[in-house]
Order: sequence, then structure tokens, then C-alpha cells
Amino acid sequence: MIKLNDNFQALPPTYLFAGVGARVAAFRESNPEVDIVRMDIGDVTQPVCAPAIEAMHAAVADMADASTFRGYGPEQGYPFLREAIARCDYQQRGIDIAADEIFIGDGAKSDIGNFPDILGRELNIAVTDPVYPVYVDSNVMDGHGGSLLPDGRWSGISYLPLSATNGFVPDFPATAPGVVYLCSPNNPTGTTLGRDALAAWVDYCRANGVLMLFDSAYEAYIRHADVPRSIYEIEGAREVAVEFRSFSKTAGFTGLRCGYTVVPRSVVGRYSDGSTTPLHGLWLRRQCTKFNGASYIVQRGAEALYSPRGRECTRRQTELYLGNASMLRNAIGQLGLTVAGGIDSPYVWFRAGAGIDSWQLFDRLLSAGVTSTPGSGFGPSGAGYVRLTGFNTPDNTRQAISRIRALLA
Ligand code: PLP
Repeated sequence: MIKLNDNFQALPPTYLFAGVGARVAAFRESNPEVDIVRMDIGDVTQPVCAPAIEAMHAAVADMADASTFRGYGPEQGYPFLREAIARCDYQQRGIDIAADEIFIGDGAKSDIGNFPDILGRELNIAVTDPVYPVYVDSNVMDGHGGSLLPDGRWSGISYLPLSATNGFVPDFPATAPGVVYLCSPNNPTGTTLGRDALAAWVDYCRANGVLMLFDSAYEAYIRHADVPRSIYEIEGAREVAVEFRSFSKTAGFTGLRCGYTVVPRSVVGRYSDGSTTPLHGLWLRRQCTKFNGASYIVQRGAEALYSPRGRECTRRQTELYLGNASMLRNAIGQLGLTVAGGIDSPYVWFRAGAGIDSWQLFDRLLSAGVTSTPGSGFGPSGAGYVRLTGFNTPDNTRQAISRIRALLA
């Protein structure tokens, strides 16, 4: 018989989105007259920015002509895109990142999920709770999870709670892990980490030899200068941090698939024999072996987002979702409920009171024709909370708000 990776046996099925889907379908069947407003969406709703569409049409034409046709591209991504990213996202903002430290991929999820390939097998990882589940599950698949505990956590993973009490800023763990995952703006809480909090984390990682895997998939939503858009705005981060970014939520690219990972040459790791080497070379080796590059057409589309029209479109799209999130945050705050997120972020996170758990709040909102995502599905500290999304139209958002007001006022 074929021997399987036992770590998959230990992984529980993901009930969260299936559970949401099943409850919404049942509600729809017994209440066909109710027009449900979907506030659980984790996907953009605006179409791809026009400059990217035009650039992709031109790239399709390139493929039809022998003189401009492109076959296999560089595994690390085309220089035209890497250079645009290095210039516009980093160097023009005074950040020291070179084009050859940028790796283009098919979205942040793949790179985040694949990154443990280059890390040690005996690795302690730390994540925030609640957490974007990919950080945990990819490490469990690689054998870093230990055993599953009754509360849904893994014995081998340190969980750093995010709550209203600590202002959704994770405290340092009792014992230094090998790797810590941080996400700002955060999915699911919609909260951000300010400059001081990130500087303290970078100092901690430097002092303790910890690798920081920094997920800034939602950085395009940041408007406030005291919230860093990149971890490399923090002094010393070039020595300890890898950054994951995506065009998905920036310009309607969730279905096109393009993102990038920054691995500075100055982040160094150690083999078991004591010898040291930059992670950059290992990630390059890994990508060259297992990845043949993101599509030329999509990379041309992403490049167009750095043109003046591309930037304007990105700003307009993120502004629309931010407006929705802000309306939600303000309306829920006015009801006197505990609410977080919705500033510099498309997600809003709220609870209705100590006696109501996440699924009860989900069901109550659904009875009013509004969907949400139960916070407990993202980790024990999400208990009682639900996540609402700004990824809808302003009209639908207003409709959801009036229903939430009628229900919870
Ligand atoms: N990181 C976070 C925090 C996310 O919420 C998502 C998508 O929802 C991703 C990464 C992955 O984005 P993509 O693979 O579309 O680039």
C-alpha cells in the first residue's frame, strides 16, 4: 500500500466555510422571499482595473507573434515587474529592497504555504489567535503541529491571543519560537500593527534569532502614516523578516493570481551542522525546482498597476471597500458593541455580548438576512466575534447596516 503523510490524517476538515454555506442554503430554502446580503465575502467584487486589462490584451497579442512570443519565463518573475515593484513599493518610499530580492508568484497563499519547505523540520512556530488558517495548516502538513488539542489548537504551535484587552497587538510568547507569523492589516480582525508594535517585534526577533514571516496582503488599504505598509519600514527588519504581498485585494486579481515575496539577502539561517547561509538562495532554489513562474500575461497586467492610471484605479477600488468597512464599523460602534477593524482594512470584527457565541451571532444576523463569518472558526480567541466584510457595494452595505441596527439596537 502507498504510505501517506500522516500529518494529513491529523488535520481536521475545514468546517468554517462549509458550515456557513450550509446554514445560508438552509435559510434560503425556508425563507425564499428574503434577499440575503452577503457580508461574509473574503473576495473582491469590483472588476480588474482597466489598465491591467489593457496590458493583458497587449500581452495576449505578444503571445500570437513569433517575434514577441514568450515561453517559460524566469522562475523569479520578469525583471519588468520586479523592477517596478522594487521602485514603486519600496525605493520611492525610502525602503532598501532590490529587484533581485523580490520573487513573483501566483499569489500570497502559495508562497506562504510553501515557505516552510526551506525551514528546519524541528521548528517551533508562533501564530496569532485568531489566525489566517494557512499559516497553521501548512505547518501541520510539514510536521510542525504536534498533536491536536480538544480546543482546536496544536500542541506544537504557540498561539498569541489578539483581543480587545491587548488592543489586538500580540504579546511576546513565553519561549522564543523559531518563526512567528504576523499579519497587518489582519485577516480576520481587520486591525493593524502600528510602528511601535512592529519595531518591538523586530527587536524581539533580532534578539532571539526568530524569523518573522510578515503577511501584508492588505497593505494597499493603509492610509495612516503611523501604520507601516511594509515591515522593511522598520529598522533591522532586513535581517529577520520575509514579506508576502499580493495583487489580489489591491486591484481585483483574486482570479488572475499574482503576488510576490520579498526575501532580503541579509536574512540568514543555520543548517544543523552549524554552517549559515542566506534564506534567499534556498528560496530561489526551491522556486526554480518546483515553480515555473507566474504567467507572462498576468505579470504584464500587474506591471500596469504601477502606471499613474493603475495606481489611481487601485486607490479608487480600495477606497470603495474602505468606505464600506468604515460605515460598518461606525454603525456597530454606535450600537455600543465591541468592534474592531474597519480602519486601514476591509474587515470589521465585532461581538454582541458575553452570552452570545460566534455561531449564535451568525444565526441571529442570518435571521435578519445578513451573512457573516463566525470568528471562532479562526481560533479560540475569535469566540463570540464575527467578521464582516467591506467587499460589497455601498448600497448592499447600507442595507446590511439597517438590518443589523433593527436586530441589535
Ligand atoms: N494572506 C491573507 C491574510 C489573506 O487574507 C489572503 C487571502 O484571502 C491571502 C494571504 C492570500 O491571497 P492570494 O493567494 O489571493 O494572494
